[in-house]
Amino acid sequence: MKVLVVGGAGYIGSHTVYELIRAGHEVVVLDNLSTGRRHSVHPEARFYEADIRNHSDIAEVLQAETSLAPIDVTMHFAAKLIVPESVDHPLEYYQNNVEGLRTLLGVLVEFDISRIVFSSTAAVYGQPADGICREDDQTKPINPYGETKLAAEKMIHWVAAAHQMQYCIFRYFNVAGADASLEIGLDKDQLTHLIPLIMQTALGLREMFYIFGNDYDTPDGTCVRDYIHVTDLAKAHVAGAKYLLETDQSLIANLGSGSGYSVKEVLDTALTLFDLPYQYDERRPGDPDRLTADITRAREILGWQPELDLLAILESDYNFRRKLIADSL
Ligand code: UDP
Repeated sequence: MKVLVVGGAGYIGSHTVYELIRAGHEVVVLDNLSTGRRHSVHPEARFYEADIRNHSDIAEVLQAETSLAPIDVTMHFAAKLIVPESVDHPLEYYQNNVEGLRTLLGVLVEFDISRIVFSSTAAVYGQPADGICREDDQTKPINPYGETKLAAEKMIHWVAAAHQMQYCIFRYFNVAGADASLEIGLDKDQLTHLIPLIMQTALGLREMFYIFGNDYDTPDGTCVRDYIHVTDLAKAHVAGAKYLLETDQSLIANLGSGSGYSVKEVLDTALTLFDLPYQYDERRPGDPDRLTADITRAREILGWQPELDLLAILESDYNFRRKLIADSL
């Protein structure tokens, strides 16, 4: 199949492009390189530098590409995704995650591209009472990031109904790790996520790792999340695109490992691999106590199964960061 990957130079987008190409598909990448890296785009993908908030930018790419061959599926990864940043800058989040999607969907409708795989998030659930998120649960975000993704999900639903589109909305839990080739990984200037920060501290790039809060409603007082390897997540996208082509049905599915780990448990697992200094700090705004995925739906409908555990996630992120340091010398 021919797949347009919007945001294909970013972390999850670039890993999905690698998996699509490994599975023999044709890939076109569109990215504004605001946070993505040109060198993260697989050499066999066709690359266009363009911004989803700019209608004529996208239309130009689609004009050029659809005149070569129809695009079977669009995957949309281009979004802002840092919870604390969304608390401080909600308007930027609405502009990127909601207005950006509106523009993209408008152009997809114009060019009659009817299948979309969309990156959503566990943050749409807010704080479920038992900490386990099932797709049919109530959605009640507690931060602007989650609100913008929920608004995006609803927009896709209604646009799909009006224009005979099919969608696969994936609600990601905590994605981490790097491709086995170590060519790509989470390579950003300002890292905020737990696992890369632990690894940077282990590698001596930071003096101290801080655990944000130890008075949450969890067994050890630190927040519980569900960590999934980016390669497992990328493979689910390939399965999702295939599902859209084969069934003509839409789907909303969680993508996680199905297991929860507290911040302290993640740190303790890292401490079995290497030593690093840490201390407790204040809570970070916008963090729910517990989020773990029920992944029955993705398993049953897509026949997908995560294969890489927390240790593999930690090791691959560490190895990727070590390679970044070696490459910079
Ligand atoms: N966290 C932490 N120290 C850090 C970074 C993150 O204790 O330096 C915690 C954060 O408060 C949250 C969990 O790790 O409870 C996961 O945060 P992350 O930013 O990785 O992902 P999120 O769940 O916010 O999407």
